[in-house]
Amino acid sequence: MAFLTGLTKGKTEWTPTFIESIDAEKCIGCGRCYKVCSRSVLAPEDLEDEESESVRMIMTVANDAKCIGCAACAVTCSKKAFSLKPLAI
Ligand code: SF4
Ligand code: SF4
Repeated sequence: MAFLTGLTKGKTEWTPTFIESIDAEKCIGCGRCYKVCSRSVLAPEDLEDEESESVRMIMTVANDAKCIGCAACAVTCSKKAFSLKPLAI
């Protein structure tokens, strides 16, 4: 299978990895990924926990079509909540 690739400034080939999902169980809603994403892909959302009747913030994928595959979100997430994949072409 072939994947979309790009070039660095030095013309070395690299393979971008695009956002697939964020694991709501792992996410603690710290917002670090939201701050580093320059493409408005992510959005915070309230998640209701029926058992404890509490609400907590999690990060969600709001617009994956805008993702450029930089992986900055995953690098900054200390909870390893991100799944990223190269784009098959
Ligand atoms: S950096 Fe990770 S833990 Fe923090 S809001 Fe983003 S996905 Fe959630
Ligand atoms: S891979 Fe880059 S562009 Fe895509 S969601 Fe993460 S930080 Fe944003």
